[in-house]
Amino acid sequence: MTEASIRFARRVHVKDASLRTRMLDIAAGLADVITLGRGDPDLPTPAHVVEAGRKALADGATHYTHPAGLPQLRAAIAAGLARDHGLDYAADEIIVTAGGQEAVYLAMQAFIDPGDEVLLPAPGYTSYDHCVELAGGVPVPVPVGAAQDFAFTADAVEKRITPKTRMLCLINPANPTGAVTPETEVRKLAALAVKHDLIVISDEIYARLVYDNHRVLSVAAIPGMKERTITINGFSKTYAMTGWRIGYLAVPKAMVPALAEIHHVLAICAPAVSQHAALAAVSGPQDAVEAMRRTYDERRKALCAALDRMKIRYGRPGGAFYVYADVSSTGLTATEFCVRLLQEAKVMMFPGSLYGDPTDDHVRISLLASLPRVEEAMRRMGSFIAALKR
Ligand code: PLP
Repeated sequence: MTEASIRFARRVHVKDASLRTRMLDIAAGLADVITLGRGDPDLPTPAHVVEAGRKALADGATHYTHPAGLPQLRAAIAAGLARDHGLDYAADEIIVTAGGQEAVYLAMQAFIDPGDEVLLPAPGYTSYDHCVELAGGVPVPVPVGAAQDFAFTADAVEKRITPKTRMLCLINPANPTGAVTPETEVRKLAALAVKHDLIVISDEIYARLVYDNHRVLSVAAIPGMKERTITINGFSKTYAMTGWRIGYLAVPKAMVPALAEIHHVLAICAPAVSQHAALAAVSGPQDAVEAMRRTYDERRKALCAALDRMKIRYGRPGGAFYVYADVSSTGLTATEFCVRLLQEAKVMMFPGSLYGDPTDDHVRISLLASLPRVEEAMRRMGSFIAALKR
């Protein structure tokens, strides 16, 4: 077999990788780049969580655990979901996975047949689209727009429901836009799911990182919704634990065996040491979460104020740690803008096209650098835009 004759399976659609890789390559060759690109918190994992991981390693937690996770962790996650989101899950309705990412993959493998349609926000977190495609399903993009600060709306969803629609994915707050779907819309979406007999994924991975008066209504907390809802959450964003790789699914008992079986095939179990660290995170003091939320909020306010001064429009983010800004007024496409901003001003952010945005107008700016660095990045961006106009 030659390199040119390697033939991948038909389900493999490798898209979008080249621009992200190209930008990371450009950044690697430059000094003093401010990276507002990836969704990985710059803040450290809280010290007591790291300590729990260290202790677990010393105590010999170096073997497989129960496939669905340590019993005490599953119980603590169930208690945390009740405490933080008003959800009612039993410990045996939790499956601990290697990150929320694995949870998304498992959900699609368990529920999507070839040809099934899955409603997804566009722009959105494109791993969902890829997981749908790997299951043979058809991602159906539901446009979210600036008029609603990029929140998912029941009206836009309803227009795209067909007899083939099997699943609706709500990511709340959303990536790449930071949009929080208002409670009234969440209730309307739930009603649509009942009317059309859809499975709902409610990805609440950013739900504890919300600002101003925003609040996330968990779909499974709505009466009658738990039976058809797959709640996805994890430790990466809430506790700055991306590298530990711990997420989870919370589902009605009847869904557990199929999801747990596929999880076993894929991963056997989530990393044991990380599960012990996650146990400390969810059952220990929660002040670190609030401290991180405030830190992101401070950066969010500074970044939005800087964009206002530059007269760059954006969707007011109610949650997560991203701002989705429209750079079309600069005369550049978002892709050109990001590449040139990196090369000429040493600031990295990603164009919305990497998140399935059909227009090339927006950029995702992440809030994952210290406040002085965010402010410096905005100064550099301001000078870059001013130079374009000269
Ligand atoms: N869901 C959303 C909406 C995300 O943005 C991400 C990561 O960026 C994930 C899931 C997966 O995160 P992890 O696998 O680190 O838990």
